[in-house]
Amino acid sequence: MTAPARRFPLSLDRLPGVGKQPRAATPQAQLQRPQRPVREAAAAPPAPAVGQGLDSEAVRARMVERLRQLGVEDERVLAAMGAVPRHHFVDSALAAQAYEDTSLPIGWEQTISKPVVVARMIALLAAAPGARHRQVRRPLGRVLEVGTGCGYQAAVLAQLAVRVTSIERLSPLHAKSRDKLHALGLLDIRLLHGDGQLGHAPNAPYDSIISAAGGAHVAPAWLSQLGEGGRLVAPIVGADGAQQLIVIDKTPDGLRRHLHDGVHFVPLKSGVL
Ligand code: SAH
Repeated sequence: MTAPARRFPLSLDRLPGVGKQPRAATPQAQLQRPQRPVREAAAAPPAPAVGQGLDSEAVRARMVERLRQLGVEDERVLAAMGAVPRHHFVDSALAAQAYEDTSLPIGWEQTISKPVVVARMIALLAAAPGARHRQVRRPLGRVLEVGTGCGYQAAVLAQLAVRVTSIERLSPLHAKSRDKLHALGLLDIRLLHGDGQLGHAPNAPYDSIISAAGGAHVAPAWLSQLGEGGRLVAPIVGADGAQQLIVIDKTPDGLRRHLHDGVHFVPLKSGVL
């Protein structure tokens, strides 16, 4: 069962203490002009202790250049990756590695995916045949993300989506991601605590469905909640235990499946904690 996050959507002016504190130097201050302007957080938590210059646009621009060299071509995806401060989503002890192309622990035995994997999966969604008919700057349309984790990928998706619904089964991560996203002013991402294998029917149909955790099967609820012209991208575990990305398009003639790169994601699990 998925249940709406408490107090969501939340308006900053109803947060306790907002307006009483001096404006903190938030990571948001370093955001490049994103396609969806990220609102400044009035009462953000202290900025993470990042190394010299690490939080600068230049460091993110270098990450974007590396993504380009690694074959990510979609400029909209590159701009979204350049707009979201990845260091804001990891513990300050790891902030120095935030713009390296590496996955990082986010607690509770979970990891934030490598930037190149996030970028490739989002580029696959944006390249769906159905995306041609969507708003140019919002090629992902209505998105369902399974596995909010620290909220980083949800923030990137929000740059290119009409609406993001994101589900996390671990309540501490659900709460933490909500705090992180709200501090960046990203209040309009629907964050849910629940088993993402059930999807979230009230917001269906989705144009894009993305899973950040790998299971043996594609959940039937995802396929029924995917709209026509929509695309699903998820890691799937094969008989040999290795994971591959699967891309499924819902066309008027039925479902079309393609297998892509080998990947390594945390397991998709049932139930909530
Ligand atoms: N997109 C995330 C990646 C998090 S790792 C980020 O940017 O940080 C994958 C996440 O999927 C983990 O937090 C894990 O708890 C979650 N997960 C695993 N199975 C799930 C399920 N059935 N429903 C919802 N979340 C799930």
